[in-house]
Amino acid sequence: MTTSQNPETLAIHSGPRMDATNGAVAVPIYQTTSYQFRDSEHAANLFALKELGHIYSRIMNPTTDALEARMTALEGGAAAMAVSSGQAATALSIQNIAQAGDNIVSSTDLYGGSWNLFAHTFRTMGIEVRFVDPADPKAFAAATDKRTKAYYAETLPNPKLAVFPIAEVAEIGRKLGVPLIMDNTAAPVICRPFEHGAAIVVYSTTKYIGGHGTSIGGMIIDGGNFDWEANGARFPMLTRPDPSYHGAIWTEAAKPLGPIAYILKVRTTLQRDLGMAMSPFNAFQFIQGLETLPLRMREHCRNGAMVAEYLKKHRSVTRVIYPGMDQPMDIAARADRYLKGGRGGLVGFELKGGVEAGKRFIDALKLVYHVANIGDVRTLAIHPASTTHSQLSEAEQRATGVTPGYVRLSVGIEHADDIIADLDQALAASEGRMAKAA
Ligand code: PLP
Repeated sequence: MTTSQNPETLAIHSGPRMDATNGAVAVPIYQTTSYQFRDSEHAANLFALKELGHIYSRIMNPTTDALEARMTALEGGAAAMAVSSGQAATALSIQNIAQAGDNIVSSTDLYGGSWNLFAHTFRTMGIEVRFVDPADPKAFAAATDKRTKAYYAETLPNPKLAVFPIAEVAEIGRKLGVPLIMDNTAAPVICRPFEHGAAIVVYSTTKYIGGHGTSIGGMIIDGGNFDWEANGARFPMLTRPDPSYHGAIWTEAAKPLGPIAYILKVRTTLQRDLGMAMSPFNAFQFIQGLETLPLRMREHCRNGAMVAEYLKKHRSVTRVIYPGMDQPMDIAARADRYLKGGRGGLVGFELKGGVEAGKRFIDALKLVYHVANIGDVRTLAIHPASTTHSQLSEAEQRATGVTPGYVRLSVGIEHADDIIADLDQALAASEGRMAKAA
């Protein structure tokens, strides 16, 4: 344990400090499905939630516990639950408080997977998602009614990279009794959404948390800062007897444990029933990543800024998209307010030569990988118009912020000179001429 509030220390020392049995310093991989009960009373107490402890690894596991504790500490939350993917984190974070007939209000600036989940799959489950433009925070209030259970947004959504007005929307929500759920996948460490009033934070740990690009995972973190009881009529799933657990009232059941009704419920009901558990091996992988996350984020931010500056001066580039850079004043001000210690590692840019130049650029890359991922230690690139967004019409692509010559980079932690050298020769190739250096 540590009393430090510094992310570098928390990422390494928070949560369980060593293995109680053997003294192992690295968190061991508890590759077990189940746990021996001391006696029948112990077993009965665990099932009745009179005592907290391990029953079965679908619900909890000591390796996963350690990751959850560290991410809770790093985020400044109250409790967390790891899940099998970022998609699972998003889905469960909403299903924990919304059911058929309910709605949520979401920012339009979303990862495509979340968009599909909201626009299509949730609809089949009877949960309506009302999309609003985050440029105007008041749009969230206008779309709210009695059945609105949450607001949802991403801190640093790509491709637009316009930082979300977290405090503005959280404040609107708190007045109306609606919690804000923030997907902070693209901005760990540099943004702490709870400090700005968010109630729940979700992550795809697949990205920066791991950094190694070996494992898919997700996390739901409860800020412990939202008063579910004061808004009890809006949240019957937390404040009324739950027939799936002997009539437990989650806000009551959590009282001896702390302000963790939300995470207690998601673990004991949705994880029990839907089983989107993170494997202990993946939890171990994410712990390895997390220990260097603050250090890596500094490098991602430093290299991201250098790449953005380099691209801005390049003659084949018509526009660079980077938080705070050449954005309207109010949007740029949000980057200043919400991102601390850097602007992240995602950089977008537009090639003068459109789709063909985009394809030539991607094909000429030598160091940079061409993959549909972000947040890796390696620099990654993709040309959305010919890949992820190719099924959309050009007009639809533009509406999502993707132009024909748009390229997205997730800038890694290689030496900046080497990243820029590779971009330089690929940009030369995109113009249809040979790079000088090649
Ligand atoms: N949220 C964001 C911002 C993402 O970029 C992604 C994946 O790209 C996800 C959620 C989904 O995460 P996963 O791929 O781990 O399911």
